[in-house]
Amino acid sequence: MLTLGIDIGSTTSKCVLLEDGKTILANSLSIGGLGTEGPEEALNELKNEIGDYYEKIDRTIVTGYGRNNYQGADAEVSELTCHALGGRFIFPDLRTVIDIGGQDAKIITLSESGRMTNFVMNDKCAAGTGRFLDVMANILRMDINELDECASKSQNPASISSTCTVFAESEVISQLANGVDRSDLVAGICESVASRVGALARRAGVIPEVCMSGGVAKNNAVRHALERNLNVEISFDPMAQYFGAIGAAIYGYRQLMKEQNK
Ligand code: ADP
Repeated sequence: MLTLGIDIGSTTSKCVLLEDGKTILANSLSIGGLGTEGPEEALNELKNEIGDYYEKIDRTIVTGYGRNNYQGADAEVSELTCHALGGRFIFPDLRTVIDIGGQDAKIITLSESGRMTNFVMNDKCAAGTGRFLDVMANILRMDINELDECASKSQNPASISSTCTVFAESEVISQLANGVDRSDLVAGICESVASRVGALARRAGVIPEVCMSGGVAKNNAVRHALERNLNVEISFDPMAQYFGAIGAAIYGYRQLMKEQNK
């Protein structure tokens, strides 16, 4: 049985094709989320990869920020449900998901059986989201993927005292002008994101096993700073940015199973 999960985020679109609720057959990602060509591009990339398989898809589920505006799916499901399902697919004992996306951050806690028990979200302020890193990478004229390695060279992370992205932007520019080492600045920027998300996570209550999902999870410096901030180990998987899409595909599979067993 083939199920497709589409996660239309605020900044990127992701697709995952799942076989029998167990095996990821293909995945694709395109920059551009809600209101862009991103979802179509991600789907086309997947179609090119899987060829005739595309016609055999039994169910398509859409999730994410842009799910309500997408017409091509059989059903839509909340991203909280999907991140929890996707996280558990990769880490079966998972109890806490820290999802940092392009425009918001969410903490989801789960019971032992995987039922959602609590969630807190920051969608009001860019600090503590991928947007903060995007803005800072832009000022430093760096690719978002380079931040991590640059931060790892830091000997003395800079302190970014402003909690507002706009003020932090000016602070980084002036520290740069004052000759602060670039790697120290990048490390400080990563610490700043971690300290915002750490405060949010403490509000939700952090129960191990903890993992990160979303694009920012790929940044080791943010993840390690969060581990120090929360004093807990944080699991990571290279598919972290796809957890929502994986969860949507699993949801589709479970729905089909339920219908068959009726
Ligand atoms: P959404 O679903 O909200 O669109 P994603 O979970 O796809 O968000 O994450 C997108 C965010 O992840 C962007 O802000 C992007 O800058 C950030 N991101 C992507 N790759 C990296 C990376 N290697 N290091 C840090 N941030 C990253």
